[in-house]
Amino acid sequence: MLKPEVLNKLRAVVGNSHVLSEPEDMIVYSNDATILSAKPEAVVQPANRDEVAAVVKLAARYNIPVTCRGAATCLSGGTIPLKGGIVLELTRLNQILKIDKVNKIAVVQPGVITFDLITAAGNAGLLYPPDPSSMKESTLGGNVAECAGGPKGVKYGITRDFVLGMEAVLSDGSIIQTGNAVDGDMCGPDWTMLLTGSEGTMAVITSITLRLVPLPAVKKTMMAVYDRLEDAAKTVSVTMAAGIIPTTLELMDNLSIVSVEKYLKIGLPVKAGGLLLIEVDGVLSTVEENARRVSEICKQCGATEVKIAQTPQEAEDLWRARRSINPAFGQVAPCKFAEDATVPRSLVPVLVEKIMSIQEKYDVPIFNMGHAGDGNMHPTIMFDKRNKEQMARAEQALDEVHIVTLELGGTLSGEHGIGCAKAPYLRAETGATGYKIGREIKQAVDPLGILNPGKMFFYEGKLH
Ligand SMILES: Cc1cc2nc3c(=O)[nH]c(=O)nc-3n(C[C@H](O)[C@H](O)[C@H](O)COP(=O)(O)OP(=O)(O)OC[C@H]3O[C@@H](n4cnc5c(N)ncnc54)[C@H](O)[C@@H]3O)c2cc1C
Repeated sequence: MLKPEVLNKLRAVVGNSHVLSEPEDMIVYSNDATILSAKPEAVVQPANRDEVAAVVKLAARYNIPVTCRGAATCLSGGTIPLKGGIVLELTRLNQILKIDKVNKIAVVQPGVITFDLITAAGNAGLLYPPDPSSMKESTLGGNVAECAGGPKGVKYGITRDFVLGMEAVLSDGSIIQTGNAVDGDMCGPDWTMLLTGSEGTMAVITSITLRLVPLPAVKKTMMAVYDRLEDAAKTVSVTMAAGIIPTTLELMDNLSIVSVEKYLKIGLPVKAGGLLLIEVDGVLSTVEENARRVSEICKQCGATEVKIAQTPQEAEDLWRARRSINPAFGQVAPCKFAEDATVPRSLVPVLVEKIMSIQEKYDVPIFNMGHAGDGNMHPTIMFDKRNKEQMARAEQALDEVHIVTLELGGTLSGEHGIGCAKAPYLRAETGATGYKIGREIKQAVDPLGILNPGKMFFYEGKLH
């Protein structure tokens, strides 16, 4: 527990009702979307930048850890307060401050729900492309802190491609402004990119300037069905090699198809080995031409059926199937390691086959699916943590997924971040020198080490 003196000072900053310290509240704030957990000593809910700065200043004075929290949909344990202290919940900073149609930018507070910005931008004829499958819950602060990706990453890129600048509170309570609303800011190192993906370990983001793009005139959504998952994976590399850049290329294996069908009952092809959910967007003539070419490539690669959605409702049903994989996991087992192993696009077929053999070797169900178009696969290993022997096999499978990904020249995380879940493997990706510099940068920005301690380069467990 924090000392009453500290709790009172926190209450003076944010108001009595926005400092939680009851044991039952601490349980609620001890989890994210992983199986990990640790309890904080207090939860503080500031309403604006100045309150954030005052809370962080107090934390620095009393040397109290601060772990930021948006919607807590994190899949790498980033939101877990490993060292106790304060969970700083940023959901009250939830205003879209500006949508500028001429300069195509949005300025938002970090607690804005991703989907709310996408909707507001759409109403202004603009698109904010990063669309994590959690977009109806996740916050933009969490997206920027994790550098989130999403299905549209194939064509448009991931969150970092849309962050122009931000305002953030550093660990001594001072405020930094990074970047600005123009594209070509070349004044020194890119502070915005340093903080993007820093997972709450360097600063508390209090406002974000984001790039928007014109809303595409039309889009076509299609589903290609395959007997063999390998053929669906091959379609991804063949499509990209043909110079076509679809908006999305999402891969689902049989386990994903069957689990989603059990959950939604929308008539998915449950006998298929795999399917691709493909979208193309742009001007009408290009979209029609690209849809035709992609459809031909799918058939050449072995698709038994290519179905083009004829109505917005049919398109929405296909997307609902993809977005329902996460809730459908529970059909298979209660616990999961949800990975985001990312490899060069041309190697997606190799990664898919390696994941199939890992599943066989360790005899654990693995969902073999993901944002295949940008090489970002989501091998999701299912187990029941009450069954120790099964959990050990799942952990071995997880190790091997990481090793194989790095051997293929890929990365441990295409979007979910490192947190503590993937921290044991981080040095294997960065190398000893990269790891040392990572620690030094964090120490320079947060010398007291109070921001999200124990994560990323400061993980204290065994390293691979
Ligand atoms: C069903 C499901 C589907 C998902 N699909 C995707 C997907 O398609 N693509 C993808 O990229 N991810 C996906 N995720 C993971 C997750 O949604 C993303 O990482 C998302 O960006 C987290 O946002 P959040 O608001 O929940 O952040 P949180 O989980 O609350 O926090 C995430 C990290 O950001 C830090 N943080 C939060 N707010 C701030 C702030 N204001 N300043 C500094 N640090 C901060 C936290 O300390 C933590 O380290 C999915 C998760 C689930 C459960």
